[in-house]
Amino acid sequence: MRGSINLGRIAGIRLEVHWTFLLIILWAVYVGWSQGGNTESVFWTIAFVLILFVCIILHELGHSLTARRYGISTKKITLLPIGGVASLERMPEDPKQELLVAVMGPVVNIVIAFFLYFFIRSQLVVFQNPEEAEAMFQVINGGNFLLYLFITNIMLVVFNAIPAFPMDGGRVLRAILSFSMDRVRATQIAANLGQVIAVLFFFLGLMYNPFLIFIALFVYFGASGEYMMIRHMSLLKGHKVREAMMTEFTTLQTEDTMEKVGSVLLSGTERHFVVVGPSGEVAGVLFNEDITEAFQNKQTQQSAGDLMKKDFLMVSPHEDLSTIYRKVQGRQLSFFPVMENGFLIGTVDMENINEFMMIQAALDY
Ligand SMILES: [Zn+2]
Repeated sequence: MRGSINLGRIAGIRLEVHWTFLLIILWAVYVGWSQGGNTESVFWTIAFVLILFVCIILHELGHSLTARRYGISTKKITLLPIGGVASLERMPEDPKQELLVAVMGPVVNIVIAFFLYFFIRSQLVVFQNPEEAEAMFQVINGGNFLLYLFITNIMLVVFNAIPAFPMDGGRVLRAILSFSMDRVRATQIAANLGQVIAVLFFFLGLMYNPFLIFIALFVYFGASGEYMMIRHMSLLKGHKVREAMMTEFTTLQTEDTMEKVGSVLLSGTERHFVVVGPSGEVAGVLFNEDITEAFQNKQTQQSAGDLMKKDFLMVSPHEDLSTIYRKVQGRQLSFFPVMENGFLIGTVDMENINEFMMIQAALDY
């Protein structure tokens, strides 16, 4: 997501906070102030949000470090106003492993709440008297700070237990279903339930809490996105690049002019091109976006060699299509020269892969 501030690394994982997280602090201060707060309570409110922030980072580390045990790295941990997101490279396919990765986030909050319990247990008696409890929770202060933190950690556990895939509870549900059925089917059921709950969150959000609206959107689109990905991966599984690659393709020379590039672009349906050097070696890849940009900026004196990207990935015809699909999801690249024994034998792009999946889906069912 755009607009994130880099906070450095923790356990080797990049830590980012979205700028809107600052709005949470302002919002909390505003709510506290409007309920009769003073400078002291503002201080405690900010301290509370910051400590809560640490609890959420620890929760995400619970997921990330468990995944690391299974050889899965985490690209980054992002803190959003609606909570944290650990961007794992992928989820483990073994349901037992997925279950543990999903559970270990909330377990961290249970552990935090457990330790806090020893400090606040004498205060819990206030709940026997609702009026007293209400008075106590008007504003955050030194006296109820730990109690607030205890309750918030418990709430995090309860909220994450809601089976709204891709939230933690939904991942647990998918893992449990995967023990007895195909993973695609399990994801479909979990994602459908996640979307139903998201719609519920949306209406509750309209009535009570605007943050719930954002969570609803996050869950709704997250669920459909992840279901599509799992379905695609299963269609591609076991199939090789050779089966989907284009074997009829046009190459450009490094010295080709923009005029030449333009006419090649017009004469066929290919969008991206492999650029070869003087001795026939693959020198780079000319992406459609770069061609478009060059024409828009009237860079007509440039050559294909000037515009091409030298930073690209070559793939082997024996590579799994699912691996390529994952590479496309992970970065901006979407076009790959296919090389065998040092020779260019084809190209593959997302369009090929999409067509391949469409055909597989038709043959499958
Ligand atoms: Zn979590």
